[in-house]
Amino acid sequence: MAETIFTKILNKEIPAEVLYEDDLALAFKDINPQAPLHFLVIPKKPIATINDITQDDRELVGHLSLVAAKVVAEHGLAEQGYRTVMNCNEFGGQTVYHIHLHVLAGKPLGWPPYTDKIKQHLE
Ligand code: AMP
Repeated sequence: MAETIFTKILNKEIPAEVLYEDDLALAFKDINPQAPLHFLVIPKKPIATINDITQDDRELVGHLSLVAAKVVAEHGLAEQGYRTVMNCNEFGGQTVYHIHLHVLAGKPLGWPPYTDKIKQHLE
């Protein structure tokens, strides 16, 4: 798998605002936040897309959700609700090819998440 910017964050080669870290995962603030609290949870194991997740990764991928919920709870935002999203490939809007769970919290979130770019694909 090609190295991504998230590998550099994992290796501390570029800075990130880290919210949680353990031996399996890292959570850090998104550099372009779309909500009052917007962070990413990534596995330390590099996996390019959801399509590349294997049976061996089941616990690891589940762990990402547990980290998401823990960090949101620490910010006091769990009860009001939040969203987790994992984008896959071009149509999913994925830009960094190291899987990451987006976690957006702290405001009511619209649905569906259509943008003009996605609408153009549908028309
Ligand atoms: P996606 O488009 O789903 O692949 O999401 C990639 C996310 O990574 C975007 O929301 C970016 O804002 C975020 N991002 C890119 N570079 C950085 C960085 N250096 N630190 C934190 N977040 C980043």
